[in-house]
Amino acid sequence: METVVSGIRPTGNLHLGNYFGAVKSFLQMQNEYKCYFFIADWHSLTTRPKPENIIKSAHTILAEYLACGINPEKATIYIQSDVKEVLELYLYLNMNAYLGEMERCTTFKEKARKQPENVNVGLLTYPTLMAADILIHRAAKVPVGKDQEQNMEMARKFARRFNTIYEKDFFPEPQSFSLATKSVKIPGLDGSGKMGKSEGNCIYLMDDTETIRKKVMKAVTDSGPTMPNSEKPEVIQNLFTFLDIVSTKDTYDYFNDKWNDCSIRYGDLKKQIAVDVAAFNTPIRERIREYSSNVDLLNNIAKAGAEKAHESAINTLKEIRHIIGFHA
Ligand code: AMP
Repeated sequence: METVVSGIRPTGNLHLGNYFGAVKSFLQMQNEYKCYFFIADWHSLTTRPKPENIIKSAHTILAEYLACGINPEKATIYIQSDVKEVLELYLYLNMNAYLGEMERCTTFKEKARKQPENVNVGLLTYPTLMAADILIHRAAKVPVGKDQEQNMEMARKFARRFNTIYEKDFFPEPQSFSLATKSVKIPGLDGSGKMGKSEGNCIYLMDDTETIRKKVMKAVTDSGPTMPNSEKPEVIQNLFTFLDIVSTKDTYDYFNDKWNDCSIRYGDLKKQIAVDVAAFNTPIRERIREYSSNVDLLNNIAKAGAEKAHESAINTLKEIRHIIGFHA
């Protein structure tokens, strides 16, 4: 069975965009691959989070992933900083990474532009830490978005370079992949394109029914169709995308027919979306509450995940130490 590694940023709560754009494919992957999902708390240090928030943020995201259905019996879910072997590989990879190539990375340049007051070396070596996260399990596949493609190129380059320097066919070149399911972009309901934290337009999995209702009822619309069977403008298509993900096909068809014969009432459409989003969220929200209130359980799950990840990591590392010339 092929190995898949994916990092999860411990930033805030999950929203519907995260669920339908990422988490849902994790749920499928855990049935088909040997999966390692890790919460990237070391990576988050590039922006200096407050000490009191480090464990809290990791626990929040852990509780939410578990509530969504990530199953620790199927996938190994762990907190990055619990598996110290990653750091040793990070050091080895840094010894074979060149300053020029790191400085040329667009992700580095972008991050340096975003926080000019703190252009730290951690930002520069983000791609070697990411490569270490992947290569420590000798992963074949990494599910990533387009924004991470250059970092994946770097990971492949570091893997190849290691193999060349030591004349060993040791690391597989990790491939980026997305599952065959159609990739969805969950829109914002404010007409601003995609749903995202920085856009401030998210419906969170934690949102209760009333909060959801308020957010959905505020969705931007237009003055309505004037010609039968006309193409939907973006803001209306956005509402139909929601229907598509949370409602039944019959409901979708009902409103689609109403659009086509120009009898649609946006108020009714929004009410339906609000009800169906709430029905989707409610069981997940309840499970998030249960997990979040049981810190011992979260600690136990994280510990068991770390043990499994450690086992895989130390096996890789022993071979690497031997190849480099150290006592394994
Ligand atoms: P972020 O919360 O922005 O770090 O996003 C984490 C992952 O969630 C991304 O890499 C995407 O796979 C997914 N994602 C976030 N927002 C959306 C969205 N609006 N539509 C689809 N997928 C999304």
